[in-house]
Amino acid sequence: MPPKIAVYPGSFDPITNGHLDIIERSLQVFDRVIVAVATNSSKKSLFTLKERTDLVTEVLKHEPRVTVHSFEGLLVDYVVEQGADVIIRGLRAVSDFEFEFQLALMNSSLAPKIQTLFMMTSASNSFLSSTIIKEVSALKGTVDGMVPPQVKAALDAKFHKGN
Ligand code: ADP
Repeated sequence: MPPKIAVYPGSFDPITNGHLDIIERSLQVFDRVIVAVATNSSKKSLFTLKERTDLVTEVLKHEPRVTVHSFEGLLVDYVVEQGADVIIRGLRAVSDFEFEFQLALMNSSLAPKIQTLFMMTSASNSFLSSTIIKEVSALKGTVDGMVPPQVKAALDAKFHKGN
């Protein structure tokens, strides 16, 4: 049987414990997970594509079944190129649903053989988003336990250089 490979795409600006929770769950179902860090033209990011990709790579370096790539272009084309047929997305709350539903239907119309699989985090990670982490960190609030230590250090370096 060929290995079951899933692609988990996102901006990861930066990666949080919520993303890591989804990746761990995905590894229970798939042989390999490719974390695909998107260029993302529609969102203004705090970290560059290279910084975001390097952080994800660093945080997941102990996990041999995870590969980290950056990608641009159409997600479904990338998924096919990688020999995968499943896209993983995370769901936090009902508020995520409408956008995710639209995206999944668009991807399914572009590439009917590719499935989108939604996963939920544990309740304790479900309130986490990269956006809220950046806001709290910028205001010097603590993000301990919400992001890996490498991400906390990178946020401090961005927002509080020299402090
Ligand atoms: P995008 O810009 O593609 O939404 P994100 O990095 O914000 O990229 O999120 C990637 C995926 O991870 C999305 O499906 C998002 O809903 C999911 N996600 C992010 N944070 C969490 C979390 N705390 N719990 C569950 N899913 C999450």
